[in-house]
Amino acid sequence: MTTIDADALRPGLSGLKPDQLTAWVEARGEPAYRARQVADAIWKDGGLTSAVAIRTLPAALREALDAGFRFDTVSDTDVREADGGLTEKFLHRLDDGALIESVLMHYPARGSGRERHTLCISSQAGCAVGCPFCATGELGFGRDLEVAEIVDQVRFSARRLAADGRRLTNIVFMGMGEPLLNLDRVLDTIQALNDPRRFGLGARHITVSTSGVVPGIRRLTALGPQFTLAVSLHAARDSLRDVLVPLNRRWPVAEVVDAARDHTRATGRRISYEATMIGGINDTPEDAEAMAELLRGDHAHVNLIPMNPVAHTPWAASPMPVIERFAATLRAAGVSTTIRRNRGQEVGAACGQLAAERAGEPAPPVVARRRARLVAESAAALHGERSHEPVPVGVGD
Ligand code: SAH
Ligand code: SF4
Repeated sequence: MTTIDADALRPGLSGLKPDQLTAWVEARGEPAYRARQVADAIWKDGGLTSAVAIRTLPAALREALDAGFRFDTVSDTDVREADGGLTEKFLHRLDDGALIESVLMHYPARGSGRERHTLCISSQAGCAVGCPFCATGELGFGRDLEVAEIVDQVRFSARRLAADGRRLTNIVFMGMGEPLLNLDRVLDTIQALNDPRRFGLGARHITVSTSGVVPGIRRLTALGPQFTLAVSLHAARDSLRDVLVPLNRRWPVAEVVDAARDHTRATGRRISYEATMIGGINDTPEDAEAMAELLRGDHAHVNLIPMNPVAHTPWAASPMPVIERFAATLRAAGVSTTIRRNRGQEVGAACGQLAAERAGEPAPPVVARRRARLVAESAAALHGERSHEPVPVGVGD
């Protein structure tokens, strides 16, 4: 682990709220309109990466900005392309050496639909929830990201797009980490992304995905409609969900779906549920029936996504005909369902995969033990046995 140097301790500039920026400018004896000029330099077309480039500012203020703040917290970025350039995967090295990812997906215009550019961002380095099919879950928890570290992932892609006169159209919190376990920072980030004086993206174009942190969902409901909420369901039966989403041992599936229903009732916004389809594990006819029963009559939408292969698991994606049958069962119960193709598989676009590769392969005996444990746990779960494993550390306290 790299030690944090003095530079890294300077706050990220893009994490400042407008009133904080104004107060900082005024404390230096400069008029408030200078704050607007700085804000333009941060936000316009993804913004600049150094205060030196802001020609409109007096030199002393430029120097004070560079001395007081980091202009870009994700400057050290490795870029990989997939799908013939339709997917771009970014591995950002943060100032303390932590690695996080963002993924930019381009969707060309089709029919009357305009072209879209969707960015998937990370909210934490690693994740405490530990879903076994997820590469980030394998890494374990590193730390929460600062607001600037989340925002700067967005600025990085916005800058790339602006070079060709394009703009981000959608942002999804589906990268590394559990956004509802870093909720204060995620909410501040969304405010920045939403604010017309900052990034200016409509709330409907922002989606936050959660593995089912019930108190977080309830807090969002109390705030009113903010953005689209997606819930990673994966299984409707507690025994299986205990294994696939270990925080289910803290907040069982019925509580998660209750919280989601209340959210829809209070905000009028449809919830979308995600299910990663894992061959022979959560794709059986019984699981399809259980999910159909659970969601019957709800104002909800289900996305079925074939699992991306991840090292250290004995599992693979469900075959497409099995996913189609699963979808048919849900639709027969009136639950609207879409099958999604996973983008960018060849560069490891599944949640956290590139950073996991960089972290290095565990020793073969460790992998073998993990696989054996998963086989045993999922076999017990398929027989309806609840997990005896503890709730993951850092979840639900
Ligand atoms: N922690 C949040 C958001 C980040 S994960 C959550 O779990 O919802 C974003 C999505 O990627 C989740 O729906 C997760 O289930 C999915 N995902 C993780 N690993 C995957 C894999 N190997 N294949 C397909 N989807 C995966
Ligand atoms: Fe964490 Fe989401 Fe991955 Fe589960 S799927 S380990 S909650 S990032």
